[in-house]
Amino acid sequence: MRLFVPKESSPKETRIALIPAGAAKLKKLGAEIVVESGLGAKLGFPDSEFEAVGASTTTDRAAALSSADMVLRLGRPEPESISRLKKGAIHVSYLDPFFQKELLQTLAEAGTTAIAMEMIPRTTLAQKMDALSSQANLGGYVAVLLAAERLSKAFPMMMTPAGTLQPAKVFIIGVGVAGLQAIATAKRLGARVEAFDTRPVVEEQVRSLGAKFVKIDLGETGETKGGYATALSPEQIKKQQEGMAKVCASADVVITTAQVFGRKAPRIVTAEMVAGMRPGSIVVDMAVETGGNVDGSRLDEEVDVNGVLVLGLGNLPGRVPVHASQMYSSNITNLVEHFWDKEKNVFNLNFDDEIIKGCVVTHNGAICHDMLK
Ligand code: NAD
Repeated sequence: MRLFVPKESSPKETRIALIPAGAAKLKKLGAEIVVESGLGAKLGFPDSEFEAVGASTTTDRAAALSSADMVLRLGRPEPESISRLKKGAIHVSYLDPFFQKELLQTLAEAGTTAIAMEMIPRTTLAQKMDALSSQANLGGYVAVLLAAERLSKAFPMMMTPAGTLQPAKVFIIGVGVAGLQAIATAKRLGARVEAFDTRPVVEEQVRSLGAKFVKIDLGETGETKGGYATALSPEQIKKQQEGMAKVCASADVVITTAQVFGRKAPRIVTAEMVAGMRPGSIVVDMAVETGGNVDGSRLDEEVDVNGVLVLGLGNLPGRVPVHASQMYSSNITNLVEHFWDKEKNVFNLNFDDEIIKGCVVTHNGAICHDMLK
């Protein structure tokens, strides 16, 4: 089976789908690996490192796409590259499948078997392939560093002969993978951290990281079988906003990470809440790419709202591209390895398997995933 890894098409993407260590692992399985020339050059992975582990490199992207049995990449494919794929080729990447219906239709019509990395189930067995987690973890880390760098105060408490500096107050809204890492990072930097999530099970995790869980009574809230938050009613969101206004007003940094799987991100921090914060404070909206948790945040912009800086920077994991690529490469090679049939030397599309059922979104000319049909 021939696996091709093209360079990413979005000029904003700094990460890559496969690093040489991943290529080596796939090569050992018995796959033929072709990498677009220059794939890892900016990250310190020259073509020669891919070639050294047995991959070949090519400058003929079009030919490589049309001869590949499987394409591995990070960002969504552009229609032009889909049209080149062989019928029945397997394409693995992020697809944003709930919001990219047209793209799914194009993949289906091309006869492509598309795997959406976002749809890998959040199970223990699939953890090693879970790119949402590996990238959210780094995103949470970066969000705190961006805030710390822009805040006009230091994070840790300092007791010096010149006086005592109080620790910065950080409030994290949404404590999934990104939120947990944001708490851990802010704590390491010495901040006083508070956090809130609608899933009650999170309280214990927040406490175990040494942060304070903010309690707001929202009535019945829950989570899905996969551990995702269920959407709140408009009345619950209002209660949440009222409960949070005071905490936001006293925070130096607010970081929002709230997501509801398959939907637009909930709008949690209102313009009034931002207006209630002290000038010099920072708000980081980590959900800006999926609609935003914060009124007034704009993708890839830093908006000054009466002295409060609202950061809406996208692709936060892309700010640590070497580690983000290492993690993604590991996720994608684990996926291929897990389903590799060593006798036939092919990727085994076993639709009886929960992971395959969960992440394949188009197959045999149709959109095949129950949640997307
Ligand atoms: P996510 O990105 O979908 O959402 C981020 C957080 O926002 C979640 O904790 C969610 O509860 C929270 N949220 C939603 N609406 C909110 C609101 N109105 N206010 C405040 N917070 C709100 O979450 P994720 O990081 O992808 O994690 C989802 C779940 O999957 C978690 O339970 C996580 O522990 C679990 N998980 C399990 C595995 C595994 O077992 N393999 C791997 C990764 C994640």
